[in-house]
Amino acid sequence: IVAFENVEKRFGDQTVLDNLCFDVAPGERVTLIGPSGSGKTTILRMLMTLTRPDNGIVRIDGEPLFHEQRGDRLVPASDKHVRALRSRITMVFQQFNLFPNMKVLRNVTEAPVRAHGVPKAEAEERAASLLELVGLRDKLDAYPAQLSGGQQQRVAIARALAVQPDILLLDEVTSALDPEIAAEVLDVLREVARTTDVTMLCVTHAMRFARDVSNRVLMFCDGKIVESGSPEQLFGDPRHERTRRFLKSVL
Ligand code: ATP
Repeated sequence: IVAFENVEKRFGDQTVLDNLCFDVAPGERVTLIGPSGSGKTTILRMLMTLTRPDNGIVRIDGEPLFHEQRGDRLVPASDKHVRALRSRITMVFQQFNLFPNMKVLRNVTEAPVRAHGVPKAEAEERAASLLELVGLRDKLDAYPAQLSGGQQQRVAIARALAVQPDILLLDEVTSALDPEIAAEVLDVLREVARTTDVTMLCVTHAMRFARDVSNRVLMFCDGKIVESGSPEQLFGDPRHERTRRFLKSVL
């Protein structure tokens, strides 16, 4: 459902993604790990079309995200083409980013109603069941400021799922939270993984998260994948010296 083909990204003279190739299958839950600055967040930002590749092709379901096919050539994509593919992807951030002036229910219904044209009643019904999934059915009428960090993050997860994305991107979603609260958010994500077929790409430093929620882990260093495997294999028997060193520093 996601493919990176020889993707390169530079900031100034720094190469952040170096001829990067990888695929994610529909329904897969992939965690990206690696030292700070290795390019993980850049990958998520590229899928959100917040940053563009300098070279190479990013595909969503086989369709180039930043290009359009013209005969046998690829040309830069129109805004309409990018928007259509982009609308299938949502992201949850470290800092929740809820709308502070809207109640919980409206936070979750806003995008489906405004951007996807879902009728309000239908959006509210779906929002209520998503808030049930994240354990916050009783907080529909609260404002974000009245909720704990963990509760706010659970609302952010419900909000991201409300547009029925094919791909859910999670960027360090537990790192602003105390360990106990982070565990609560992890439980919710495990439940999301169990009850939906949404494809997940997660960037995290929380190895328990990677172990519990994902079925594949990609280890990055300097904009390249140094190792990839199941959580059991990669954490239990890392093959690459760079992975071993990294795991020793975080575990
Ligand atoms: P972390 O774990 O610290 O979030 P990361 O692996 O997610 O790191 P990225 O955020 O993808 O790393 O950043 C990779 C490199 O690109 C970093 O060195 C960063 O400073 C640089 N970088 C990212 N965005 C920009 C930008 N807009 N302008 C200049 N440099 C940038």
